[in-house]
Amino acid sequence: CGIVGYVGREEAYPILIDGLKRLEYRGYDSAGVALLHQNVINLYKKEGKVAALEQEASGKNIHGNVGIGHTRWATHGEPCDRNAHPHLSGSGRIALIHNGIIENYGQLKADLVQKGYDFKSDTDSEVLVNFIEDIQINNNCSLEEAVRIALKRVTGAYVILLIDPQLPDTIIAARKGSPLVIGVGEKGHFLGSDASPMLAYTKDVVYINDYEMAIVRPDELILKNYGNETITPFVQRLDLDLEAIE
Ligand code: GLU
Repeated sequence: CGIVGYVGREEAYPILIDGLKRLEYRGYDSAGVALLHQNVINLYKKEGKVAALEQEASGKNIHGNVGIGHTRWATHGEPCDRNAHPHLSGSGRIALIHNGIIENYGQLKADLVQKGYDFKSDTDSEVLVNFIEDIQINNNCSLEEAVRIALKRVTGAYVILLIDPQLPDTIIAARKGSPLVIGVGEKGHFLGSDASPMLAYTKDVVYINDYEMAIVRPDELILKNYGNETITPFVQRLDLDLEAIE
């Protein structure tokens, strides 16, 4: 399982597909991407290999300079197209990918069902995206703030990436217990479960720590803790090269 993300001036889709292939060694049962193009999210996901996802997306709109991609190793819900990531929030606005497990998803889901939320998958991850949206609506706050509030109330392990057409050119990311690396390149920012998806583009990377979230734009990387305090990103230059990991 793995996650990738890109926000910059290039087309995101080929970067995401290439990145997902570089993460294939981790093992997975399904794959998906969500792309932000002209204020619309286009989402493609498929059980099976990344090649099956490419087939699914072929001939469709795969444009956009912002995108997130996922390979799934099912923990909650069988491997199938419907349970593959990304997952959309109830309004269809927010797209989320998640590696890990939300342990208290059962209670959160029961509360959301009570409020009328309707679930399209059996995953713990779809509960999280709806929980975030519900918090944003109730608190009338930014998505960033809603993510922060939500993550203080979930237990488990995760790395998540989110995109939202109301925040053009932005990926919001957070982690606890699952790895997240952000590459700082001339053509934008790259996100990955490890550095392998970004090595073709940059060797300058920031390793994100537990309980940190990142607001990532083409030329801006804002790092914060869950207390909303800004952290200075520590950029390190990797000295391994692409051949070494191929
Ligand atoms: N728990 C999530 C699911 O079953 C994410 C699994 C993963 O880490 O790929 O969909």
